[in-house]
Amino acid sequence: MANSYSIGNVFGIPIRVHVTLLIFLPLFAFSFMPAGGPQGLFYGALGAVGLFASVALHEIGHSLVARAKGSRILEILLLPIGGMARLNALPRRPIDEIQTALAGPAVSLALGIAGLFFAPLLFSFNPLLAVVIHELGRINIMLVLFNLIPSFPMDGGRVFRAALVPRLGRLPATQLAAKVGRGFAWLFGIWAIWPVFHGGTIRFTLLLIAYFIYQAAGAEARQAEWEALAELQRGQPSGLFDDLLRKWR
Ligand SMILES: [Zn+2]
Repeated sequence: MANSYSIGNVFGIPIRVHVTLLIFLPLFAFSFMPAGGPQGLFYGALGAVGLFASVALHEIGHSLVARAKGSRILEILLLPIGGMARLNALPRRPIDEIQTALAGPAVSLALGIAGLFFAPLLFSFNPLLAVVIHELGRINIMLVLFNLIPSFPMDGGRVFRAALVPRLGRLPATQLAAKVGRGFAWLFGIWAIWPVFHGGTIRFTLLLIAYFIYQAAGAEARQAEWEALAELQRGQPSGLFDDLLRKWR
């Protein structure tokens, strides 16, 4: 992707950082600062790096399972609003897609439990580090909960779509999941601007995430329609053919 920089390879997967993340990184470091002064800033920066390492590990979780199911991983891109694993294609069998979608939250859950477990043990040796590790543990648990909301194309939404495929067919399942995803995007958007009506400030990151989900849900639905049409034109009716017939009847 343009405007991004490679920071290395993990398991042969290129990890790239979008330029906007480099701009936001100092803000994240300030929000992590467990104390004032240069020492606080050092641990704040450590927390910010730890946050995006957590996000990268979440995406590596998705990627390794997807690769085991036959997908090719192009890159993992880190953005201020989160991470994104870019694949040549997602695994298509619903069970494979569910396992791929759950692999990211599983990694975050392990990181969250590890952070919350080790932070108290570290406290007597290095209280500032302990505070940062505890905060990272808490954020990883929140990442699990947030990602499992069935808001397609977030992880929970992918599980939701995959669970619908055997019953509805791929295209209608994607269209329904995209509608539900857009509904959640509206809810997130309202939640993001809600504080404005009570003298607060916009939850800007959440607003960006809402916008991203809204756009991405529409794009996924369009892609499913396009794939179904391509399948039809190739004259290879499959499950998708039934989906289209159902749509047109
Ligand atoms: Zn994920």
